[in-house]
Amino acid sequence: MSFSSFGLSPALLKTLADQNYTQPYPIQKEAIPAILKKKDILGIAPTGSGKTASYVLPVLMNLQGSSFAKNRHAQVLVLVPTRELAVQVRDVFIQFGSELPERVRISAVFGGVSINPQMIGLQGVQVLIATPGRLLELVESNAVHLSEIDTLVLDEADKMLNLGFQDEMKRIFALLPQKRQNLLFSATLSDNLSGINQILLHDPVVIKLEPEPESLDLIEQTGYFVPLEKKGPLLRYLIKKNELKQVLVFTSSTFQADNVADKLCKNGIDAVSIHSKKSQGARTEALREFKTGKLQVLVTTDLLARGIDIEFLPHVINYELPRSPKDYIHRIGRTGRAENPGTAISFVTPEDQHHFRIIQKKMGKWVTMIDSANLDLKTY
Ligand code: AMP
Repeated sequence: MSFSSFGLSPALLKTLADQNYTQPYPIQKEAIPAILKKKDILGIAPTGSGKTASYVLPVLMNLQGSSFAKNRHAQVLVLVPTRELAVQVRDVFIQFGSELPERVRISAVFGGVSINPQMIGLQGVQVLIATPGRLLELVESNAVHLSEIDTLVLDEADKMLNLGFQDEMKRIFALLPQKRQNLLFSATLSDNLSGINQILLHDPVVIKLEPEPESLDLIEQTGYFVPLEKKGPLLRYLIKKNELKQVLVFTSSTFQADNVADKLCKNGIDAVSIHSKKSQGARTEALREFKTGKLQVLVTTDLLARGIDIEFLPHVINYELPRSPKDYIHRIGRTGRAENPGTAISFVTPEDQHHFRIIQKKMGKWVTMIDSANLDLKTY
């Protein structure tokens, strides 16, 4: 099956070819035809499986030739949990929309930055990508209206529907017209997702890709037994000895992320931390530098574990283990994406050993373990 069999416009096919999308991924094979037919979708697919393009392409196609709604009345609303994901999804829309004969107005809004430019940017908006809080602020100030929404997309739906967003999501749903297309995508099928699925979706096409094992096969996983006080030297040893060029390091707190990045810098390794306490400007800048390969090490918290796509990211290191096995899979899923191999290394202190066994059991895979006591870390 090729992209041309979906009946996508020549402009979209050209951009696909320019981007080296030769074959549709499994989720795209199922989602694109169904979305073009205006069906509701429940897509359960692991991160990195190509879900963004699976809705961006048909949504853009459906907008072609559609009668233009009133000013400041978006037709497509994509809700995402983080600012980074909003920017990333917007960029995919812009990329695929670039060659279309009818220009599509795309805008992303999210908190943490000044609201005024976003208000101005909503002139004539058709596709609006938003985090819930900022969207409500903009609706309240009449900068945008949701009464003409024809398609609603929930990206990372399980996250969008969990407790933290519940009130905001309820308020947003109440502003949407009853008749609309609903597209829900999530890496996991959680309880809250099953519940909302019944309220939100009408006779949906359910696409359930076999999750993690296939994509995890691309990731070479290693664990290092290491005492707490040797974690810093071990990190520096691994980066320097193996000449790692692009490494995403996960810690469990903002404090620790700053601390690890500081120590790396003091030891001559180019590192920056990003997390929820950093300004949006600093986060965007660091992520951009990291994505383009200018920054060697990005240290972060679980803020980045979901949804963010870093092309060809080769290495993920869990400096501290995440609490849940699900988060472990999200974290290491930042590598091994789009059919490229990657390595994931986890630091396991004596206290972590039991927890790491649980993670492996839940994942259904056993990780090769190395004892750091056998490494010469003295000079690192
Ligand atoms: P996503 O799961 O949407 O974050 O996509 C993961 C990565 O796969 C992104 O870097 C996309 O550009 C890439 N991708 C998605 N679909 C295809 C495809 N059919 N061919 C090649 N690359 C793709």
